[in-house]
Formats: sequence, structure tokens, C-alpha cells
Amino acid sequence: MPTIGSALDRASARLNGHSARSDTEVLLRHVTGLSRTELLLKLDRELDQESSTTYYQLIDRFEAGEPLQYLTGHMEFYGLDFYVNRSVLIPRPETEIMVEKAIEIGKRYPTPIIADVGSGSGAVAVTLAKHLPQSRVIALDVSTAALEIARRNAARPECTNIEFIKSDLLGAVPDRHFDIICANLPYVPSAESQSNRFEPQLALDGGPDGLNAIHRLIRQMSSREDKPEWLLLEFGTGQAPAVKSILDKTFPGSQTEILRDFIPLDRISV
Ligand code: GLN
Repeated sequence: MPTIGSALDRASARLNGHSARSDTEVLLRHVTGLSRTELLLKLDRELDQESSTTYYQLIDRFEAGEPLQYLTGHMEFYGLDFYVNRSVLIPRPETEIMVEKAIEIGKRYPTPIIADVGSGSGAVAVTLAKHLPQSRVIALDVSTAALEIARRNAARPECTNIEFIKSDLLGAVPDRHFDIICANLPYVPSAESQSNRFEPQLALDGGPDGLNAIHRLIRQMSSREDKPEWLLLEFGTGQAPAVKSILDKTFPGSQTEILRDFIPLDRISV
């Protein structure tokens, strides 16, 4: 029988990257249910056959490129733990910048009504609902599978102010009033998005220049009678000038602020 220590050593030798040891620990913790401290105190303990088999299956999948978050089902976003699987994009830290700005804006309203368009795992919607308890958050997604995950992630006592609607962008809610719209839509150009083998293309592929969904959302907004005061959009590398120009043309006189991510690259329009 292998011990916990020998299983960790063997797997990290195989993965052999700079974070191999911590990645193998995360996976073994997932399989055994032990905390990191427990794991490290029990290096000499035997690993039963079933755990060992499951563990090496996960190591194989990780070695083949599958993200750790899909293997464990967990991703942390804005200090909260979210369940993820291959039906949804893994929330990215840069999206926290959009959320932070939306919280700041939301606080100016007594009861902000916020749409999260293309909600995916629900990370944005749940975080907003939690940090703006007086708000009403409407999470929209075209994917039934994603909405199921988002609902699961919203099953927290502090998140009763969210509702979920299956909708292609704002298509299903033409007459609802929104103060703020947040959207992390697919924006990766098709040619690049194909190289991501694990996350859903529906959440990534934004067409030839990556801007299809962003364009469609802005068009939908411009044809609404009741226009939201705020639109926050995440976009991809090099897309800031195009996004700004679509916004300027569609909403003359509106002001667009561009926020940068940690790299720093232009990432969010407000
Ligand atoms: N930031 C993600 C990536 O680069 C894409 C997310 C998106 O298309 N909304 O993979």
C-alpha cells in the first residue's frame, strides 16, 4: 500500500512543474477530505486502494491539461467558494475588478436592480447579491446547465435577492428595469478559443473578432425603451478601442471609463 507521503512524492515527481507539490496536495485533499495540516501530519498513513485509484485518475486528467478547478469542483471568487464544472467558465480573478466597481456603483442606489448577463457559474451575481443586500440581482444565461450551477451557488442564506432567468442576453427580459448591467460575455476570437479544450466554447467564443456577443448586447440595450444607467463589460486583450467606439457610437454623450486588470491590460469598460 502506498502512503500519503509516497503518493504525493510520486505524483509531484510526475508533474514536475513549479507548483506540482501544491497541485498534488490539492487533489489528494480533495480525494481524502483531509485539511492541508491533517494531510501533512499523516504522511506515513496508508492510502487505501480506492482513494489511490481515484487520486491517480485525477493526476492523469490534470497532466492532460484539465484545470484543477474542474477536478475538485471548486473555485474561489471574491472570497467565496463556488462550485464549477465543465458547463461553466472558471471564474477569473480579473472579473473581481468588474464586481468591485459594480458594488461601488450599486451602493449609490437604495435598492439597485442589477442584471448579470451571461452569468455562468453565478460568481458575479452571487457576489453582488451578497455584498449589496438591498439589491435585486437578475442572473441571465442562455445555458440551462449553467443556470443550474448558478442556482446551486446561490443556495446561501444571504442570497435570497437573486433570481435566475434563461435568456439569450437580454432577450427574455425586454421590459424589465435595470439600473446596472454587468456582463462577462464570451469575447475570445474563435481562432483562439478553440485551443481551450476544457471550458465551454459557449462561454468563450465571441466570433471572428471576439466581439459578437458584446455587439449584440449593446444593440439590445440601445433598442430598449428603459435604458440602464450603467453598463459594465469585461472584454479581451486589445479590444478596448473597439468596445469604446461601439459604446460612443451607440450611446452618444455617454462616458466610458476603462479599467485595467493586474497585468495591467485594459479589461473592463464602465
Ligand atoms: N478571460 C477568459 C479567457 O481568456 C475569457 C472569458 C470570456 O470570454 N469571457 O480565457
